[in-house]
Amino acid sequence: MQDIRELTLEELEKIMMRIGLPDFHARQIYAWIYQKGVSGFSQMTDLPLVLRRKLSEEFFFNQAKVIRTASSCDGTEKLLLRLEDNYVIEVVIIPASRRITGCVSTQVGCKFACSFCASGIQGFKRNLSCAEIVDEVLRIKGYLKNANLTHIVFMGTGEPLDNYDNLFKAVRIINSPAGLHIGTRRITISTAGFVPGIRKMAKEGMQVELSISLHAATDTLRSKLMPINKRYPLAELISVCKDYIRQTRRQITFEYILIAGVNSTLQEADNLARMLSGLRLCKVNLIPANAVRELGVYPPDKIEILSFRQALLRQGIHVTLRKSRGQDIEAACGQLRLRDEEK
Ligand code: SF4
Repeated sequence: MQDIRELTLEELEKIMMRIGLPDFHARQIYAWIYQKGVSGFSQMTDLPLVLRRKLSEEFFFNQAKVIRTASSCDGTEKLLLRLEDNYVIEVVIIPASRRITGCVSTQVGCKFACSFCASGIQGFKRNLSCAEIVDEVLRIKGYLKNANLTHIVFMGTGEPLDNYDNLFKAVRIINSPAGLHIGTRRITISTAGFVPGIRKMAKEGMQVELSISLHAATDTLRSKLMPINKRYPLAELISVCKDYIRQTRRQITFEYILIAGVNSTLQEADNLARMLSGLRLCKVNLIPANAVRELGVYPPDKIEILSFRQALLRQGIHVTLRKSRGQDIEAACGQLRLRDEEK
C-alpha cells in the first residue's frame, strides 16, 4: 500500500496501463485529488467502480490533521499539522497584495542547528515523504477555501536539499498542470547552503527559484550562526553559486536576516558586498529578525537596518528589504511548534 500522492502523473498513467485501463483515468484521479481536493476513492464518481475498488486496495491518503491555527494581525496564518506518526510540522500562509504564498516544511526537525532558528532546537527526526509535502500544500488550499494559493516557498522546517528526491518529486506534482498547477517560477527552494544539493539542482532543468540563507559574510561569523558553514565554507558556497548561475542563467537570492548585535554592522555590509561582487545574477533580501525569546534573537533598530541596506546599494548590490511577517504569532520557522511542545 502506498499514499497515492507519492505518484507523478506519468507513474499513475503507467499503473492504469498495467491494470489494463485507459491512461486518461490518471488525469481524472489527479483532478479529483488536486483540483477538487477529494481524499477518498469512493468520491471519485466518474471512475469505473472496478477502478475505485482497485485503487482503494493499493493506495491510501494519509492526511495530516490541522491541530492548531494562529493568525497574525498582518494577515499571516500558521497551521500546525499532526502527521500520522504524531510528529508535528507547521506551514505558514503569507498573503500579500496580489499573491498568497504557502511556506512549506520538508523535514521533521532539522540537522543543521542554525543559532537563530527554533527548528534546530529539537534536532532532526525524519524526512517528509513526497506525499506529506504535497499534503501540506493541499491542507493550505483546503484552509484557504476559495482564495488562490499562488506561490510556494520551501522555507519551513528542515533543509529542503537534504531531502532532495522527495522535494523534487513533490515540486513536479505541485507544478503539474494536471496537479496543483503552480508555475515553477512561483516555487522557491530555500537552502542553508547545502552545496551538493545546489550542484544537483543546477542540472535539474527546472526553472524554480533558488534562495540561499547567508546571514554572514565571514566564515567565523557564519560558522557560529550556521554550523553547516563548517562543512561547506563560504568560498565553496560562492563558487558553486557561480557555477549555478553560469549553468542555469538564473538569479540567486541571498537571504540575510539582520540580527541586533550580531551581523548588522556596516563592516558586515561591506564584507557582504565584496563577497557577492563576482556574481552576475544575484540579489540580497534583508529580513529583520523575528524575536526568538528562547534564543536571544532580536531585530536591529530601523536606522541600523536602513544603513546596512544603503551600504549594499552604494556598492551596486541589488537589495530588497522584506518586512518580518507574523511577529505576533511567532512566525520564524519552528516557533509555533516549539510553543506547542512546551505545553
Ligand atoms: S534555518 Fe533552516 S537549516 Fe537552519 S536550523 Fe532552521 S530549518 Fe534548519
